[in-house]
Amino acid sequence: LPSRADLIDYNYAVAGHDGTLSDVDGELFIKPCTAAEVAFYESSITSHPEFAEYMPTYMGTLTLDGSQNGKTIEEVGADLIAKHTRPEVVVPVKTGKRIETNLAVVLENAAHGFVKPNIMDVKLGVRLWADDAAEEKKIRFDKVTEETTHKDLGFRVAGMRVWQGHGATGLDIDEEGYKIYDKNYGRFSIHKGNVYEAFRNFIFSESAGIDEELGKLVAQAFLADVTRIRQVLENQESRMFSASLLFVFEGDGAALRLAMEEASRSPATLVNGDGESSEEDDEDVVGPKIYVVKVIDFAHATWVPGQGPDENALHGVRSVAKILKNLGGV
Ligand code: ADP
Ligand code: MN
Repeated sequence: LPSRADLIDYNYAVAGHDGTLSDVDGELFIKPCTAAEVAFYESSITSHPEFAEYMPTYMGTLTLDGSQNGKTIEEVGADLIAKHTRPEVVVPVKTGKRIETNLAVVLENAAHGFVKPNIMDVKLGVRLWADDAAEEKKIRFDKVTEETTHKDLGFRVAGMRVWQGHGATGLDIDEEGYKIYDKNYGRFSIHKGNVYEAFRNFIFSESAGIDEELGKLVAQAFLADVTRIRQVLENQESRMFSASLLFVFEGDGAALRLAMEEASRSPATLVNGDGESSEEDDEDVVGPKIYVVKVIDFAHATWVPGQGPDENALHGVRSVAKILKNLGGV
């Protein structure tokens, strides 16, 4: 029978609630969530495929309670990956305060397949609360907007982790050598006068072998995806409050250089994340990962036919694009 021991803590979340999980292979990202978030994933896949392309691949849902159906989480995960269908499966999970819902969404882990994934969560919006938010929450979130880059730029850096090279030690550097920028960084250290610095700290890291040349290429690659996301959002009618852009790239400079060389040798392996090859759609020949950009966190996202594009989220997307353009030297 499956046990809680089959799931492991996901240790690479850079923001958000506690309680995210993964499988031992690291292919899955499992997050306790609301029914509304699951509904948004399902309706996006069904009716908004251009947008769904930029969501993490949705594998299905788990019911986080005591019942089981005789499979381990590895088996369940393997089934979901193989089938790409969306059955409901049940695994037991320890009960804890942080999990207020039985429901969890099973997604592709966007950081899987990287040697040293650098990860940044950029939370979008000037207004951060949905219409149904409690008055107390509206006031609290408006204060966050007022005090951060949300106000002028429509986004803030919610958190990031950046690899600093083999054997790196120092302030806020974990045992694997990642520098951790927690939620206080974007909340209290970053303002519109130094926001470029945050992106520079994320993309360029001499000690990890990511120099100006390599970093510029990363910024350009991110810009291409952010531009596409902007276009998709401009052509759809959605509202996403407190959703994020999730940026991941190879943080080991040597591995990054190799991955880029391999991609330039065989263009079919030049992929963004989930295997969309830029050439023909033949087999699963996917080279080492270079980067991924995803939109995540749809707890307060809905489709609003007839109401026009989400200018609140778009403001942040455009600001991020401007910064990436600058860093990419284009
Ligand atoms: P919350 O509602 O708790 O804010 P999010 O969906 O924003 O949940 O996820 C929290 C964090 O987990 C993100 O900041 C990111 O670091 C990580 N994360 C979310 N989705 C994925 C994913 N598909 N793959 C890898 N990491 C993810
Ligand atoms: Mn979040």
